[in-house]
Amino acid sequence: MSVIKSVIDKVKRMDPDQKEFHQAVIEVMETLEPTAERHPEFVKNGIYERIVEPERAVQFRVPWVDDKSQVQVNRGFRVQFNNAIGPFKGGIRFHPSVNLGIIKFLGFEQIFKNSLTTLAMGGGKGGSDFDPKGKSDGEIMRFCQSFMRELFRHIGPETDVPAGDIGVGGREIGYMYGYYKKIRNEHTGVLTGKGLEYGGSLIRPEATGYGTVYFASEMLATRGLDLKGKRVAVSGAGNVAQYAIEKVNQMGGTVISVCDSGATIIDEAGIDNDKCCYLMELKNVRRGRVSEYADQYKTVCVESKNVWDVIREQGIKVDVALPCATQNEIDGANAEALVKNGCFCVAEGANMPSSPEAVRVFQANNVLYGPGKAANAGGVATSGLEMSQNSSKLSWTRDEVDSRLLLIMKGIHKSCLDAAEAYGKKGDYVTGANIAGFVKVAKAMMAYGIV
Ligand code: NDP
Repeated sequence: MSVIKSVIDKVKRMDPDQKEFHQAVIEVMETLEPTAERHPEFVKNGIYERIVEPERAVQFRVPWVDDKSQVQVNRGFRVQFNNAIGPFKGGIRFHPSVNLGIIKFLGFEQIFKNSLTTLAMGGGKGGSDFDPKGKSDGEIMRFCQSFMRELFRHIGPETDVPAGDIGVGGREIGYMYGYYKKIRNEHTGVLTGKGLEYGGSLIRPEATGYGTVYFASEMLATRGLDLKGKRVAVSGAGNVAQYAIEKVNQMGGTVISVCDSGATIIDEAGIDNDKCCYLMELKNVRRGRVSEYADQYKTVCVESKNVWDVIREQGIKVDVALPCATQNEIDGANAEALVKNGCFCVAEGANMPSSPEAVRVFQANNVLYGPGKAANAGGVATSGLEMSQNSSKLSWTRDEVDSRLLLIMKGIHKSCLDAAEAYGKKGDYVTGANIAGFVKVAKAMMAYGIV
């Protein structure tokens, strides 16, 4: 049996309930087969067995008191997956679906994504099954403080540097950082995504969405195309989706959709800059639902369905798809419908938003398909730039950070294509991203001996 197959079998056997983690491991491992042939030293030194096992995974109790003075208890996680090339680095997710398997899938993906950025960052991820929806600011603050009351002992600017993810934006980072600072008595770059007043970087909020669109645009350029005049479907309505919309508008495309977990909006006239500002205020300040957008602009609103279901059911024409909500939001049937409706480019703002069947459909139909670990790496790359600014006590201008982000995304795109070609899979961004991300980490692991 090949080492790859035996690693996959072992992962499934050891943690049979961690379906998302299995999915992420299988997706990466199956493309790494040629690296095992080319690098027998990786096999001999157990690199494949070691890379799927986190350095450590911490699970903890998060007790807090709600506005009715009731005690609530949530579960917190931090998975420190791999620090071969730099401190552990990866976001924190607050969502009721969070469990150890989801955090492990995200932490595992993060290893390769962070490696692709060329910055010195290892892979990690954390979160809680806490649901921020409908909670008051006071409740969010008390929860964040309780979460940090345990997390603080596991992180540090040279050890592990968390950031935001689903349900964790500027407000939550502020509360967590404030509490870390209080109990450690140090003002240091231990979290990224901070406010500008206390060590944050310009462009960090925009970076994941902007980076995804830069990556899409690089893919399109390989076929002599660009975003001008293209119909773009975006899913989600949060941080990544909002700035993806802003950047598509700047590049001349028309975004026709957004969704949250309550509804999908189809706006045939396009979500222009004014509407995008309305969406940002609705989601980030008023913390409302996208259905209010439909009331405001008299657009189509389909309750309880995501963007990809609506596109399939209504046969909506789309050129480019930017899934920016959550994992496995596009299934095989939705992918087939996208292809049928004319979609030729998919860049993933979210992590693993396409199911394995959907990926197969895109690849079989010659769709330009940019997997999340490459296409959405702009967020963590800019977090890396925030870390550099924090350690040098400097802050760079908006243009400086944006131009570095663009260069990094171009670099990632090129690394994917180069690695794919070097391993006989020309144009395959999945193989390219996985191999380019993996080989650097594997070589660093080799240098350390068996640790
Ligand atoms: P946010 O919490 O800001 O936004 C998530 C959005 O997706 C919300 O509008 C949410 O709706 C919607 N959503 C979540 N689950 C579903 C669902 N099942 N069906 C429909 N809509 C859903 O998170 P981010 O924008 O930060 O993250 C989005 C994705 O991007 C995630 O996969 C994340 O891991 C990935 N990512 C984020 C990075 C970042 O820098 N923030 C970096 C790299 C990747 P609702 O409001 O109803 O919950």
